[in-house]
Amino acid sequence: AKSGGRGAFRFFEPELDELMHARRNLERDMRDAIAGGEFELHYQPFVVATTGEIRGFESLLRWHHPKRGLVMPSEFIPLAEETGLIVPLGEWVLRTACAEAAKWPADLRIAINLSPAQFRSKELVAVVIGALAGSGVAPHRLELEVTETVIMHDSEAVFAALGQLRELGVRVALDDFGTGYSSLSFLQRFPFDKIKIDRSFVNELSSASEEAQHLARAVVRFAVSLGKTTTAEGVETKEQLDILREEGSVETQGYYFSRPMPASSVAKMLRRGARA
Ligand code: C2E
Ligand code: CA
Ligand code: CA
Ligand code: CA
Repeated sequence: AKSGGRGAFRFFEPELDELMHARRNLERDMRDAIAGGEFELHYQPFVVATTGEIRGFESLLRWHHPKRGLVMPSEFIPLAEETGLIVPLGEWVLRTACAEAAKWPADLRIAINLSPAQFRSKELVAVVIGALAGSGVAPHRLELEVTETVIMHDSEAVFAALGQLRELGVRVALDDFGTGYSSLSFLQRFPFDKIKIDRSFVNELSSASEEAQHLARAVVRFAVSLGKTTTAEGVETKEQLDILREEGSVETQGYYFSRPMPASSVAKMLRRGARA
């Protein structure tokens, strides 16, 4: 029916209502999920490109929702950030990942993603110290991954917290490098231990466009030239791996080597001696 502007507007209302209803449900479910043990960490190895040697694993959150099944981080992390639930959830991640890493050979690192809200909580440093002490994992085995978005929120406070953590011996990685607006100035302002090149560039290493390939290689070369550990994210093909090997000392992470997997599969992989 043609009922003009009001009618057209009303047409969208039920959808918006449904969306907000779904959001509220998700938020309520998420509160119960931490206590209910519905969250799980998967682990994805990062390996030396030239040798395949495993250097460590990145922990990635998974939510086993009783009705919706497996829910991926892109579906709940943004809401967890908005509602502040990422603070208790992030604390659970830190404690769980460190406890798991304590079972691995002591030369393997554990990488953990941090959200801006975790820095705003002011308790981050204490929470990290608690997770290390509780698990017995040495600080240098812990790598905290932050994106530019994390730093941009309140850069002075974030830099201060990261500085304190680095003094403890914890490593700090700049995640999704190349996707932000001010990557270069961030590199100057904070002594990151590792740079993780975003998979959008890694993808272009095998692009049909020569120009895209050149840019992607330049990004890799630039990161390597800074003398920090460089990890190429999202390596999916042998071709991409071969190109990275030419760039020398880089780590790779991606489906080509392994998908993220449950802790039990990591234990099996390590027992099989897939380390060298
Ligand atoms: P991220 O930190 O950039 O993590 C890498 C993402 O790429 C992961 O997605 C991983 O499964 C995926 N990936 C790895 N290798 C490949 C590949 O070869 N090809 C493709 N296409 N993808 C690959 P995932 O697990 O869905 O996580 C998405 C994002 O959610 C993460 O991006 C991170 O920003 C966030 N996240 C995950 N776990 C946590 C957490 O514990 N805390 C916080 N704050 N954020 C988390
Ligand atoms: Ca990450
Ligand atoms: Ca990343
Ligand atoms: Ca990302």
